[in-house]
Amino acid sequence: MIIGRILENEKKVRFNEKINCNKCEKQVPGGLQTGESYYQTSSFKKELEDFKKSYLCGVCRDAKRLKKD
Ligand SMILES: [Zn+2]
Repeated sequence: MIIGRILENEKKVRFNEKINCNKCEKQVPGGLQTGESYYQTSSFKKELEDFKKSYLCGVCRDAKRLKKD
């Protein structure tokens, strides 16, 4: 998964982060990527926190979508 921004022709940084679904709390594989110049900036950290707070696994995301339709 990619979070934040990656500029054109920029090197990507791969990192691992423990991510749990916010609904069923299942842990999901947290292989993430972002752009080298964005990695570890304060906006990056904030975005990562927000991402973790709102993350839903595929199953819960599907359930939510089906309910909405
Ligand atoms: Zn879930």
